[in-house]
Amino acid sequence: MEVDTSAITHNIHEFRKKIGSRPKMMAVVKADAYGHGAVKCSQVALAAGASWLGVATVQEGMELRDAGITEPILVLSQPPKETIPALLEFDLTTSLYTEDFAMALGEFAANRGKVAPFHLAINTGMNRIGVWHADALDFMRMISFHGGLRLEGTFTHFATADEPDEYVYRLQLRRFNEVINQFKKVNISPGIIHCDNSAAAIRYKDSLFDMVRIGISMYGLHPSAITRGTIELWPAMSIHARITDLNEVPVGEGVGYGFSYHSPGNVVIATVPLGYADGLSRQLSNGMTVIYRGKYVPQVGNICMDQFMIEINKRSTLLNPFSPPEIGDEIIVIGRDGDAFLHLDEMADALGTINYELACRFGMRLNRIYK
Ligand SMILES: *Cc1c(COP(=O)(O)O)cnc(C)c1O
Repeated sequence: MEVDTSAITHNIHEFRKKIGSRPKMMAVVKADAYGHGAVKCSQVALAAGASWLGVATVQEGMELRDAGITEPILVLSQPPKETIPALLEFDLTTSLYTEDFAMALGEFAANRGKVAPFHLAINTGMNRIGVWHADALDFMRMISFHGGLRLEGTFTHFATADEPDEYVYRLQLRRFNEVINQFKKVNISPGIIHCDNSAAAIRYKDSLFDMVRIGISMYGLHPSAITRGTIELWPAMSIHARITDLNEVPVGEGVGYGFSYHSPGNVVIATVPLGYADGLSRQLSNGMTVIYRGKYVPQVGNICMDQFMIEINKRSTLLNPFSPPEIGDEIIVIGRDGDAFLHLDEMADALGTINYELACRFGMRLNRIYK
């Protein structure tokens, strides 16, 4: 995997242009930065203008601290109570939405003469995590007596910001604004207010508030088709491999497990050391192409755990007698060579999933090279 860090910098700068100078940017680097490598991507994002980092687990936050990163880190969900000592030791800010967790966190902090910051998660309609919006004021009244707790931020998350219909987005935003107004009326400071993921921050001005949380777009991928053309993003990830074997397979011979492909003759089968354990879905078997010498070449046979095969037609222009294919030649699985271009979005469409999932999967085992 090559990760083009200048693309990440570019994407964050594009975002800054889009949202104006006021909102802070949180770089969401959960799941090893969507497969791109959390430590490096965090450093690049911070240098490009992000001031917060977002992670999914306490473990992910600890990894960033161990790498020497000192900027604020938010755990985007409420972790198990067992992680409270680590939250404080590693100076991680937690999301919070249950009384039980709040009391445990407050007690632990107060006993050590500390005040634990938290961001209150509000459920405005996605129904994943958070205090139900209509209960938020009561919840804060219930826990705010605690000297070991400090409300540092208030946030929600949109369920449909990347979809054409704005109804649910508007409903969630209205509910969220009501909560903020209720807080202000009774002099509860909501702290840093943040709602937007990539899609909302690209599409809407109404919910930028104090900070936006950008994940997929910082890696140069669009949250859905709807934002295409509205911001110029450069994909940071590309996937490359080198041919490890070449076989002239006679007509009728099978290739790979289960012989889902038989040689039509006049082909050279090249083996590529990349498989489903590297994040390349086996469901793509006999249904994907790769780029070889600037041209599209079909993948054939079942994709294996660690390898797959491609079919090079001996009559094709790739095989002129002066440059036969060689072991070590480069294959591109995601990326560009001249006019030939393979995008994660096309692979996601073929699999009936989203680019988010595929980017994470390619993070499983491949070595990363940062450019
Ligand atoms: C993952 C996540 C984000 C980032 O979403 P993108 O669509 O990748 O920009 C923002 N906020 C929360 C709470 C998340 O879990």
